[in-house]
Amino acid sequence: MNAPTPHTVHAAQGKPAAGQPIAFVSAEALRERVHAAVNDDHLRSSFRGAMDFLMAKRAAQFPDESELVSLRSLSEAIRQYSLSKLPDLLEQLEANLTRNGVHVHWAETPDEANAIMLDIARRHQAKLIVKGKSMVSEEIEFNHAMEAAGIGALESDMGEYIVQLAGEKPSHIIMPAIHKTKEQIATLFAEKVPGVDYTDNVDALIQIGRQVLREKFEQAEIGLSGVNFAVAETGTLCLVENEGNGRMCTTVPKVHIAITGIEKVVEKLEHVAPLYSILTRSATGQAVSTYFNLISGPRKADEKDGPQEVHLVLLDNGRSQAYADEQLRKTLQCIRCGACMNHCPVYTRIGGHAYGTTYPGPIGKIVSPHMMGLEQTHLLPTLSTLCGACGEVCPVKIPIPELLVRLRGEAQSAPHANPAMVGQGAGYKPLVSFAWRMWARIYAQPGAYKAFSWLASRFRVFSPSRQSGWTVARTPLKPAPKRLRDMVRERH
Ligand code: SF4
Repeated sequence: MNAPTPHTVHAAQGKPAAGQPIAFVSAEALRERVHAAVNDDHLRSSFRGAMDFLMAKRAAQFPDESELVSLRSLSEAIRQYSLSKLPDLLEQLEANLTRNGVHVHWAETPDEANAIMLDIARRHQAKLIVKGKSMVSEEIEFNHAMEAAGIGALESDMGEYIVQLAGEKPSHIIMPAIHKTKEQIATLFAEKVPGVDYTDNVDALIQIGRQVLREKFEQAEIGLSGVNFAVAETGTLCLVENEGNGRMCTTVPKVHIAITGIEKVVEKLEHVAPLYSILTRSATGQAVSTYFNLISGPRKADEKDGPQEVHLVLLDNGRSQAYADEQLRKTLQCIRCGACMNHCPVYTRIGGHAYGTTYPGPIGKIVSPHMMGLEQTHLLPTLSTLCGACGEVCPVKIPIPELLVRLRGEAQSAPHANPAMVGQGAGYKPLVSFAWRMWARIYAQPGAYKAFSWLASRFRVFSPSRQSGWTVARTPLKPAPKRLRDMVRERH
């Protein structure tokens, strides 16, 4: 197995990641999805309402602008510092986790990650895996991989449970079922949960879900969770959650598997506090979450609960490729708060499903190309107004608009040429460069410009319908039938 040891992260030179994308929405399908979403008044008003609510809650958490400014700077610095030492921190994390009794695994691709976890499940003859919230497990389509092997994987986060029942993917990284109304959830429960009658009482619906899940926690042989921060100096996995299901997944079954992207490492425990503070406030507008779990190993001999075995799977899936490029590395600063989505005018109008990728919204548009290749995702960076709201709100100051412009350029110049995101100098093309130089000369000489614009409007019918990368996502450029100078002359 070509596992990404810290050395491969050191050595990564921008080469395409191995492995095929497992989720792919074609350009045609993406257009159709966006079109359908934009025309769905109900969906638009639901998302608008939910996002306005979250934006107001976040704003209320930062009444003091100067505190926000300094916390953002501190968080950005911690993330950049952690990434600058990533290979060393990964080695330290592995050593300390191993010392604590945690089994550490490295996976380069989704297939490798699934194979590792399937192997653990088979060794324990598991029939059911109960899951806490984990976007990385969505990224690798863990549920499908387990189900294909005859092992049940049940979501225990309420939102994830609802979308799993509906056979859908999450539409938001923090609130997976935010696109559903309580009436839709009531209908879903009545149809899918045995013995449940229709009720749209929210408390009753939550109790129904809890009842189903409580039994499953006891039955499951394995609990799976994500990781919000992994602390290298102590070998600690930090888990932020609100429902308590994460704690159930990581303590009740006899085996706990945690899965995370390799970028989630920080050096010291003291680095977690500011990140945690800005994460919860940016994500759900909470000062702190209801639960904050610190996991440093399996159950000890004198402890009453906890798993007997703990595993951590560290997934690359294109991250070391992003890491190799100084500008794209900033993508890895993300702490998955979802604030960029809540503030994005495009996400707010089309919702998360229209993107067709695991991570929707602004963050999805900059991380998906690393995971799935720019060939597969070349339209994603165009789903943006470049208004800058995402960059302004990001708690770790990822320059999302800047990265989107870079990806747009690269996608436009060679969307089909590269099997994956390569990311270096792809924007340069001699022909394009020559065309711009000629244009600059014509534009600088009034006589030449006059003649050129006259010719362009006379012969506009010969404008090509395909204009290099421009027409991949836009209508062809055509000179106006009448020049502006002629229209002005006619008026006066
Ligand atoms: S890009 Fe920034 S705002 Fe968006 S999810 Fe990541 S940390 Fe949050």
